[in-house]
Amino acid sequence: MSGPRVRGEQIALKSKSELERMRHAGRIHARTIARLREAIRPGVTSAELDELAEASIREAGGAPSFKGYQGFPATICAQLNDVVVHGIPSEDEVLEEGDIFGADLGVIWEGYHADGAFTVGVGEIDPESARLIEVTREALELAFEQVLPGKTIRDIAAAVQGHVEAAGFSIVRALVGHGIGSQMHEPPQVPNFVDGGRGNSYDVILRPGMTLAIEPMVNAGGYDVKQDADGWKVRTRDGSRSAHFEHTVAVTEDGCWILTAP
Ligand code: MG
Repeated sequence: MSGPRVRGEQIALKSKSELERMRHAGRIHARTIARLREAIRPGVTSAELDELAEASIREAGGAPSFKGYQGFPATICAQLNDVVVHGIPSEDEVLEEGDIFGADLGVIWEGYHADGAFTVGVGEIDPESARLIEVTREALELAFEQVLPGKTIRDIAAAVQGHVEAAGFSIVRALVGHGIGSQMHEPPQVPNFVDGGRGNSYDVILRPGMTLAIEPMVNAGGYDVKQDADGWKVRTRDGSRSAHFEHTVAVTEDGCWILTAP
């Protein structure tokens, strides 16, 4: 089904059967996240978590969306402390008490994708890190309230940015959410901020059948990021911690269907 165009690209509106396939991918995703949450503790390596995630997805008949995507070698993006996104898991990366750790992963099932991320404390964490995680999770929940026919991408971005900045944190500008479906990345872009850049999708009006991966990335310090020499890992420029939550959602006739919900 075709929807509106943004920058010359068609936004695909999904049929009921396409949405059901995305929801199935989303259920596999949610179960994998639950298993990761149980496994995250001091002493575990991000490579072990990556193996667990891949096994969980494959047992359920799915495949990891990220593995092989533009050459990315793993199932999860491992996001430890100041890592914003795209960290390659490693057996040398050992989680320690007081760290914060995020995992971003995608599942493909019968040709359709689900994408999502979460961040959690490793053992006991300091109050400011706990607040960073909580504010980021809340920002995504506020975004869901804006997922309604007739609302725009700008409404989503404004809800996220308003909450995060009121809490004294900053929204990463260099990376944004996205449409999703038979491709992991589809139009439109879904920024988490309304001030500057990435403006092309702001006026897209939400319609039933649109599917979006909404993903606030929030830094405790400034919003600037830098990339490691490996060409993947993106960190905060100032070394502050970063949190990331993401769900894949569908716009329905009367609101928001969280396709990656447990
Ligand atoms: Mg995503």
